[in-house]
Amino acid sequence: MGLFSKDIKTMEDLHLHGLQDIYYAEQQILKSLDDMIDKATNRELTKAFKAHKGETETQIARLDQAFELLGQKAKGTSCPAIDGILKEAKSIAADISDKAVLDAALIAAAQAVEHYEITRYGTLIAWSQQIGSVAVARLLQISLKEEKVTDKKLNALAQAKVNAKAAQ
Ligand code: FE
Ligand code: FE
Ligand code: FE
Repeated sequence: MGLFSKDIKTMEDLHLHGLQDIYYAEQQILKSLDDMIDKATNRELTKAFKAHKGETETQIARLDQAFELLGQKAKGTSCPAIDGILKEAKSIAADISDKAVLDAALIAAAQAVEHYEITRYGTLIAWSQQIGSVAVARLLQISLKEEKVTDKKLNALAQAKVNAKAAQ
């Protein structure tokens, strides 16, 4: 199924496709968080990644619930956008030898991921409300808030410590 495949006819179809997209994305993110936990040196950064790994697992469970509320089977559909963001993160990390610089790069990569999730959840919440799936909107709102808090936490960590250490 292509992104603009003709299988999508209605707003409900488009909404379901969006849910499948973020379902796939969250699963890819969960896998790459293990990698980022391994690579991070700053203890607070490792802690932040571990905490967000737990949240990501809960977010996937929330999406399972959303599919159930809609009477749909939970399944993912390929998301070339998140594949690209994660691929870029991996390749830049592989090119960095200094641990402090690597931490700065890991934060930047993780923030790119959070921003992708923020845009997707924001849209899905608006679409859920539009098609009358208020319960789904409420579930996704919790995940959106977690993504925003994570983005802010990473930002604070970069600005307060990690970037300065990387620049030493
Ligand atoms: Fe997430
Ligand atoms: Fe996508
Ligand atoms: Fe996230």
